[in-house]
Amino acid sequence: MKLSCRASSIKPSATLAITAKAKKLKKEGKNIVSFAAGEPDFDTPLYIKDAVKEALDKGFTKYTPVSGIDELKSAICDKFKADYGAVYENSEIIVSCGGKHSLYNLFMALLDDGDEIIIPSPYWVSYTEMIKLAGGVPVIADTSANSFKFDLKILKSHLSGKTRGIIINSPSNPTGKLMDESDLIDIANFARKNDLIIITDDIYEKIIFDDRRFFNVLMVDKALKENTVAVNAVSKTYSMTGFRIGYAAGPKDLIAAMNNIQSQSTSNPASFAQYGALAAIKGSLDFTIKMKEEFEKRRNYMLEYFENEIKSIVPLKPDGAFYIFADISRVFKESAMEENINSSPEFCRYLLDAYLVTAVPGVEFGNDNFIRLSFATHFDMIKEGLRRIKDAVRPQSIKEYYKNKK
Ligand code: PMP
Ligand code: GLU
Repeated sequence: MKLSCRASSIKPSATLAITAKAKKLKKEGKNIVSFAAGEPDFDTPLYIKDAVKEALDKGFTKYTPVSGIDELKSAICDKFKADYGAVYENSEIIVSCGGKHSLYNLFMALLDDGDEIIIPSPYWVSYTEMIKLAGGVPVIADTSANSFKFDLKILKSHLSGKTRGIIINSPSNPTGKLMDESDLIDIANFARKNDLIIITDDIYEKIIFDDRRFFNVLMVDKALKENTVAVNAVSKTYSMTGFRIGYAAGPKDLIAAMNNIQSQSTSNPASFAQYGALAAIKGSLDFTIKMKEEFEKRRNYMLEYFENEIKSIVPLKPDGAFYIFADISRVFKESAMEENINSSPEFCRYLLDAYLVTAVPGVEFGNDNFIRLSFATHFDMIKEGLRRIKDAVRPQSIKEYYKNKK
């Protein structure tokens, strides 16, 4: 079948594909330890499920306005006011089928062919592909030589006459790094002067460790609202990934254009799921705080384990989210098997094949020296998985595996 150039130009989401593969293998009875999951392993809080059941019982099972029910948009406005001091009206909000869908609508509404968006790297897998689908050009700004921090200097070195905007994702998937406030202020001021759109993807804003504080451009300066699109979702904060409810706030005309696109593609997000999101956003953060505390314990355990037991893998210390992005390049060198094991996909293939451990290759996030390990999985699994990785990185294990494969 001849496919469109558009379809042929993009790859499938590696994070979703590897998570699905791990789930399938587990279902088949394989003793898999999965570090792939991009979703919290906690059950959705009961009061949120109850709100959905009530919505169904009340018959809220029909179309809603394309951009979401008014109560939900008002609750989102209240959230923006309370969290960032940013004042929005309902007409500046769109509710979509996940944060991903809000981003997709945004790129479709914003970009003409050849328009560029600067993406700090490492980056979440879907930014590049969604921008390409919209005809845009993802411009990758590598931060690895700057301690994985995006700053104004890196931004400026990737600027061109075609730059429309930049993506800020703090804490980041996959590094978990938070942007420095001072860097964010410099970038925000530069963006306003140069008429760049700042896309702030705040989906992990409530999962932050070490008592660090979340900060986004809307908190810098009220005037920045005109240059900013804030994207968020209930997916991670309340462990509601399957609900598919995300949202964006931005300039009225841009949100209206996104609304048009949504009206011609998905229409509204599921009616009853919106009532679940309403209960979540209006409710307390008690659940989220407990979940975050558990994530923090797991992060600390993993960092300590790497430091003491697996010295050939060097993890970045995440400030938030639930991923450890870990440098595996020493494993290649120490095994002296670089002709066999020399890339993050090959290392992940080896882990799965020989040790039944899944992880996401760093190359999917723009850095082939790394792998991403999600700690959104039970402590016992984490312990078992790390034991297996410790065994896997022994040069002897690698040699034996490749010898037997020949
Ligand atoms: N942004 C980032 C950085 C993510 O990791 C994800 C992962 N799901 C999303 C956006 C989209 O989330 P969802 O569509 O599930 O709300
Ligand atoms: N964002 C999560 C991840 O990075 C979920 C999967 C996806 O949508 O990419 O694994």
